[in-house]
Amino acid sequence: MRHGMRRLGGAAGIALAATLAIAPAASATTDDGEDHKPAKPAGVVLAPHPLVGVRIAIDPGHSAAGNSRTDAQSADAKVPDGRGGRTECTSTGSIGPEGYTEHEFSFEVSQKLAEQLRERGAIVLLTRLHDDGAGPCVDDRGTFALDHDVDLMLSIHTDAQSGQDQDGFQVVLAAPPLSDSQRGPSHDLAESMAQALQEAGYEPEVSQKSEEDEAASNDSAGSADRQVPSFGSTGDGASEADDTLSEGVVERSDVTTLNFARRPAVQLELGDLGDAEQAAKMSTADAQEQYAEAMTAGVLDWVDGHRGLRPHH
Ligand SMILES: [Zn+2]
Repeated sequence: MRHGMRRLGGAAGIALAATLAIAPAASATTDDGEDHKPAKPAGVVLAPHPLVGVRIAIDPGHSAAGNSRTDAQSADAKVPDGRGGRTECTSTGSIGPEGYTEHEFSFEVSQKLAEQLRERGAIVLLTRLHDDGAGPCVDDRGTFALDHDVDLMLSIHTDAQSGQDQDGFQVVLAAPPLSDSQRGPSHDLAESMAQALQEAGYEPEVSQKSEEDEAASNDSAGSADRQVPSFGSTGDGASEADDTLSEGVVERSDVTTLNFARRPAVQLELGDLGDAEQAAKMSTADAQEQYAEAMTAGVLDWVDGHRGLRPHH
């Protein structure tokens, strides 16, 4: 279900862009750009290019086959996972019932996202430039962010949990944090992305783990039915204030790409390839453009609050 898709083009986009250019540090609500009247004529500000000077890495998750690093060629070779263990270099990812794959989806959405971000002035770099054969290992995808001096990185993935009938998204955050950039800046980025996806009509997915955590931390609300979504906001923990996560934002320690990122980074799990109907829709250019539009809105929101704040490693 994708009701109420928010378009960034047209008058609303220009009004939002003008707001960004005039008051880049303001944390104005951006959920209805129509109401934001530019204080100056749009022609004299950076209106069409609110992301000028912003460097963005996009990581299209997975690859068609194998990997590109000789030290991980053998079947049992693994790469560092960023937390002292070893993990698989990369994989083809999920596959839908009709054969549409995660590496295709992530690549196609990433292309569209890159185009939309570039149209707004961003410098966009992708961790892989084709969808044939080998791709980079997950640790290299993470270090790509610092190596290419980007301001933020988005790693694009999808779920494949057949049986779920919502096109739920998750925005994944490395936790516990291994660097300053994995604390506040990545946290804020996750919040901006989750909010933008929700505003575009996508449903957040409540993970099993989060439901269990919620049940464990909230005795009285245990009764099976799902009043769950606002995990993180139960208010009964001492350190809740710093740690509140929006719906759809999840913390994981096992995402190697995020573990290695030394710039604000999140992984987006978009939709559910395991559901045949959804997978068919996700393979269309229209659906992919809509995901890209929502993520572009999230980037604009985050940049609005962080422009000029060069993240620490
Ligand atoms: Zn994946």
